[in-house]
Amino acid sequence: MGVMGVPMSVLIKDAWVVTQNTRREIIKADVYIEDNLITEIGKINVEADYVFKEKNMIVIPGLINTHTHIPMTDLRGLADDVDLEKFLEKMWKLEGQRSRDDFRIGAEMGIKEMLRTGTTTFVDMYSDEDVVAEVAKKMGMRAFLGWAVVDEDITTQEGNPLSNAEKFITAYQNEDLITPLIAPHGVYTCSEETLLKAKEIAERYDTLMTMHVSETRKEVYEHRRKTGKRPVEFLNDIGFLSFRLIAVHLVWLTLNEIRMLAKNGVKVSHNPTSNMKLGNGGSMPLPELVKENVPVTLGTDSAVTNNNLDMFEVMKFAALLHKNERWDASITTAQQIFDMATVVAADALGLKAGRIVENHLADVVIVNGAEPNAQPLRKDTIISNLVYSLNGLNVMATIVNGRIVYDMGNYPET
Ligand SMILES: [Zn+2]
Repeated sequence: MGVMGVPMSVLIKDAWVVTQNTRREIIKADVYIEDNLITEIGKINVEADYVFKEKNMIVIPGLINTHTHIPMTDLRGLADDVDLEKFLEKMWKLEGQRSRDDFRIGAEMGIKEMLRTGTTTFVDMYSDEDVVAEVAKKMGMRAFLGWAVVDEDITTQEGNPLSNAEKFITAYQNEDLITPLIAPHGVYTCSEETLLKAKEIAERYDTLMTMHVSETRKEVYEHRRKTGKRPVEFLNDIGFLSFRLIAVHLVWLTLNEIRMLAKNGVKVSHNPTSNMKLGNGGSMPLPELVKENVPVTLGTDSAVTNNNLDMFEVMKFAALLHKNERWDASITTAQQIFDMATVVAADALGLKAGRIVENHLADVVIVNGAEPNAQPLRKDTIISNLVYSLNGLNVMATIVNGRIVYDMGNYPET
């Protein structure tokens, strides 16, 4: 057991390394981490402060979860088996009574679960993201935190959500592990004016935006009734679409809308488990988005609509959903889905991560390939096993920014 959460050199000996490099090579090698970077991969004979030397280790890039509401983790199981409308009704009632202390407890629970299950970066949407930021820093988690914005007349936040978001961004813009951003909640909770002001703030501070878009058919039809346009068409026409935007869900899209997303460099977050649990009916047109070169990443959504934060499970659901939907087992591949959770997401967030490659951020996960559900351990089926067979509890250790933040049942002190 090394010293948790402190910077040091780490050597991982004789592991199967899923590099996710341009050739997607998997090699048997040692990996050396110094400070916050992967500095060497190969046969390494140097001392390190901490050495992982178990047999049958699989080293993968830390998984990236591009959509969560982490302070809600302590509400897990409290709103099952209802559709989004009833879910939101229930949640908004609960939210009004929750304190910053509740948010902290939820965030600790959620980040612990993510570290345990191999996630090294997450994108969040909630109010009071300063609470999440402090928890993430303490636990050593990399976090992109989107302060949620809705119109002032419907918010439960104290003060104006836009100014709250701006205050949060200014306070946290120079942090190592934290990237503050702005998160308009949706077209049904944000007016055109609110949306454009949110975009202005993202531009002023050169940061990202994230937003729920076209999650349910009802959202799309109601928006069209109100404005004459589908949500993406509307966002396109008001000039809101941007390379800064990570649009979440996009279950109900036309090809015309997909092209609008592509043209504006929008990135998307696919949350198959949450969509299925809420009975959204349709599913994101993933093959068409990929064909039009829209970067598709993966997210869990909150622990209330998922109900866990395990990205391995999301990878499997993402792959299976579209095979079944299209009557075509080859429409998604394990490598393509694994890319979405690693390289595609890292690039979408502008992180030099998502790969086990020299001089990249040391966001690294060690999976225990000795477990029964990882057998037989063969180089040519490792990617298949990662997506279709393993789950987050197969993770042995998680390293974020060069620091060991989970190691065989141990977490840094909170
Ligand atoms: Zn959400």
